[in-house]
Amino acid sequence: MSISSEPYAVAVVGAGVVGSAAALALAELGLSVVLVEARAAQPVVADSGYDPRVMALNGSSRQLLEQLGVWPLIGAGHITGYQTMKVWDGDGSGHVEFNAAQMGLAELGAIVEQQPLLDALQQRLAAAGVCVERPASVVAAARREGVMQLQLANGRSIAAALLVAADGAQSPLRERLGFATRSWSYGQDAIITTLTTSRPHGATAYQRFTAHGPLALLPLGGADQRHCSLVWSQSSAEAARLMALDDGDFCRELTLASEQTLGVVSGCDRRYRVALTQRHAIDYVQPNVALIGDAAHAIHPLAGQGVNLGFKDVAALATTVGQFIAAGGAPAGLGDAALLGRYQRRRQPDNLATMAAMEGLKRLFGSANPVLRLARNWGLNQFDRAELVKQWVVRAAAGE
Ligand SMILES: Cc1cc2nc3c(=O)[nH]c(=O)nc-3n(C[C@H](O)[C@H](O)[C@H](O)COP(=O)(O)OP(=O)(O)OC[C@H]3O[C@@H](n4cnc5c(N)ncnc54)[C@H](O)[C@@H]3O)c2cc1C
Repeated sequence: MSISSEPYAVAVVGAGVVGSAAALALAELGLSVVLVEARAAQPVVADSGYDPRVMALNGSSRQLLEQLGVWPLIGAGHITGYQTMKVWDGDGSGHVEFNAAQMGLAELGAIVEQQPLLDALQQRLAAAGVCVERPASVVAAARREGVMQLQLANGRSIAAALLVAADGAQSPLRERLGFATRSWSYGQDAIITTLTTSRPHGATAYQRFTAHGPLALLPLGGADQRHCSLVWSQSSAEAARLMALDDGDFCRELTLASEQTLGVVSGCDRRYRVALTQRHAIDYVQPNVALIGDAAHAIHPLAGQGVNLGFKDVAALATTVGQFIAAGGAPAGLGDAALLGRYQRRRQPDNLATMAAMEGLKRLFGSANPVLRLARNWGLNQFDRAELVKQWVVRAAAGE
């Protein structure tokens, strides 16, 4: 679709999974939507054929993607449901096991490769008539006469009643528009790659906590069940050392660090290193502007909740806008501060509570204090026996 000279109802900036889903959800309400993305589409190809960027999606994210008609387009080979999750303390004997069947569920969640998900979103955006401007970086944004004016690096300009900033954790738009944030660096980096292991994963997600950071092994598809996605959080210095190892030495260290849970790690794809930061915008909205996804809140990946929270932002924003339109509101009024405040009130408490929980876990398991280590191992084992509490935790993680 070509770019319009008329103001759009909505301009979404950032075609990551959250921004793409938001553009689609808002277009499905019958609104004119433009999606702006700085980068050209660049599939990441790895030796094993898996995208190194995967996400653990919960039931509420799946429901949103089903409602938007995206889920069936992802391709079954890129979605791996997991029935069991094993979490244990690398500095003791504490462990917890979650099992879907024991909780009356078909699965606890699904590991989804990012690129196939983006491709599926792209297909649905085209079918819904969303105008996609890429590669086109936003270089200026200003509010004029009740609309947002965006200047793109390719020389074009766009006007929209509502600007949805989904431009990621560093969010240039959030900075440009003067949104205040609270943030701190963990001094940790995550190493991500795809692994081949000697033992099958058995549709189980594994997470080992150590004082240096959590190590997660997430099951990937394939009949032999011998591929996993690795998310290994480490101090930045240790991550640099691990990145400098050749593949053989890296796999040997990982075999030890994973306590041979999946036997020997026999191979890995290209490794990527990502700096971990926690950041939260004090406000998500200004007149004519809403922040969503990592632009509003970036959290530690230890419980795999980042995208899940972003999709809940999308659902809340679409509900807020949908109610306004259903009550006879005109698209030109979408920038109204009181309307956008409703979206913020729907999402901020949940995002803050999840961030606080992640921070608590990170500190609890990052402590070398022997009393705390003893207490957390005891606590994990008690927790493992408390079926009702476990069911509550699983329902919360599922986004209910
Ligand atoms: C190691 C790791 C593992 C993770 N695992 C999980 C998991 O298992 N489950 C989970 O739920 N979450 C997980 N997360 C979190 C998840 O990756 C993020 O929450 C998610 O990617 C955020 O999506 P987004 O669309 O908000 O932002 P992004 O994916 O960062 O997309 C932002 C987009 O905006 C574009 N952009 C930026 N600036 C401009 C501009 N000026 N103009 C135009 N476009 C612009 C960028 O090019 C980009 O495409 C993990 C994170 C990390 C680091």
